[in-house]
Amino acid sequence: MSIKEKIKTAASIIHSSNYIVVFSGAGMSTESGIPDFRSPGGLWSKYDPGEYAEYSAFLSHPEKFWTMHKELSQTVLEASPNLGHKSLVTLEKEYRKLKAIITQNIDFLHSRAGNSNVLELHGSGQTACCLSCGTEFYYTDIQKQLDEGKEVPKCPKCEGLIKPNVVLFGESLPSNVFQQAIAEISSADLLIIIGSSLTVYPAASLPSMALDTGARIIIINDEATMMDHQADVAIHGKAGVILPLILEELRNIDS
Ligand code: NAD
Repeated sequence: MSIKEKIKTAASIIHSSNYIVVFSGAGMSTESGIPDFRSPGGLWSKYDPGEYAEYSAFLSHPEKFWTMHKELSQTVLEASPNLGHKSLVTLEKEYRKLKAIITQNIDFLHSRAGNSNVLELHGSGQTACCLSCGTEFYYTDIQKQLDEGKEVPKCPKCEGLIKPNVVLFGESLPSNVFQQAIAEISSADLLIIIGSSLTVYPAASLPSMALDTGARIIIINDEATMMDHQADVAIHGKAGVILPLILEELRNIDS
């Protein structure tokens, strides 16, 4: 099937669906200038995840984590939602078909774009928490300490170690968010998977659950994924290009 035919097929599947859930990954935000982890030039080509993003490594060498996080956060704060994020707002607000977005991203771009039911499986870099006394902070408050040259920000109340509210390797997902994600998946008649290599578990187990509950699957990803053969349609391309083209087709069906 040509890309054009796949886009038409995706639009017609969306047209006949009523409870759409999106599952998004880092590829959703690369066109906003935030690198993913695994593509060439991605974060893992610069920072070894075992050294920089494991919970135990964070406790023993927090300065390494903060070096990476400071760079990623600066990029995230400067980024804006791209045409892919904006298309998902149209699908929610105009078509009223998109009911939830389950995201692995920590960049809060879906909420900033205007989607309302966003489930952040891996937390959000917008806030941070003291591991000793539990005080919550906005990242922008922590950033002041980093800008003043501190390698590892400390809690102003108790001098405890501060950790952004993002899930590191070796940590559990927030169980309430994961349960809500499962509930949304079981209600979905269509799951659209966007910009995820589907290799990070347990998040990547959710698309298989959608198959088990009979939802149709559309995949939009720059490269092939291991679920392509199980999808109703798998489109290889940029989310910020493909999603607006699908919306254009949807408008043609409706007119
Ligand atoms: P991943 O890096 O494993 O995979 C990203 C996938 O998106 C790749 O298959 C790539 O080909 C594809 N892709 C890249 N640009 C694309 C585009 N413009 N359009 C469509 N597809 C595109 O990412 P993942 O599956 O989300 O898992 C990795 C982990 O990375 C997650 O836990 C997530 O928390 C974390 N992460 C998040 C951000 C962010 O918040 N923006 C950035 C980097 C990593």
